Amino acid sequence: METVTAILLAGGRGTRFGTAIPKQFLPLDGKPIALHSYHLFQNIPWIHEIIVVVDPDYAHLFPDTPHAKPGLRRQDSVKNALALATHPLVLIHDAARPYTTHADCNKLYKAAQEKGAVLLATPIQSTIKQTGQNNRVLRTIPREHLYAAATPQLMPRDQLKNAFARFPNRNFTDDTSLLEAAGYSVHIVPGDPSNIKITTPHDLPHVQTV
Ligand code: C5P
Repeated sequence: METVTAILLAGGRGTRFGTAIPKQFLPLDGKPIALHSYHLFQNIPWIHEIIVVVDPDYAHLFPDTPHAKPGLRRQDSVKNALALATHPLVLIHDAARPYTTHADCNKLYKAAQEKGAVLLATPIQSTIKQTGQNNRVLRTIPREHLYAAATPQLMPRDQLKNAFARFPNRNFTDDTSLLEAAGYSVHIVPGDPSNIKITTPHDLPHVQTV
């Protein structure tokens, strides 16, 4: 079984969220949001190294691991951490997803042995409309093969490095899409729908955010 470097992305400023501290450091069930997945990864035996992308102001929260500098965009943060990764597989995770389970991570790791690059994803529940000018509906997209991409995403480190080298200027919001562009095959692993990304204060109904 191949060894894994986990890259925990906690370098966002969370300006869309509207709080003074970035959303991934707001408290949830007694600890900052980012520490939920950090502690999860520390307890997974097949994760051999954790690199946290974090602003120096918050680096003290992750005392036992190497830190990478946040970049301007999420993908720049990934690139900074990737340069430090020493294991053949990399698992990339948004620190803003505190509800990820050990069971889903194990499913992902197992799938990666057979399929290569894999990501957790959940089936789309809504009917999807594509629109044109003035909100006019152009078409309805059948949803049976549509999934919402989540993290963690697990992939061979060298595939990701090659894809970064081939597409240095491309904008992308998840890492496996860069692999797709480079022609690598990517598979989804259906995950627990509770693995949401904290995006707005509505996602934290019990937390004082102002
Ligand atoms: O902004 P968004 O929620 O899409 O960010 C996803 C994750 O990536 C968050 O955990 C955030 O902290 C991280 N991030 C980062 N560096 C950036 C932007 C986002 O580490 N420049």
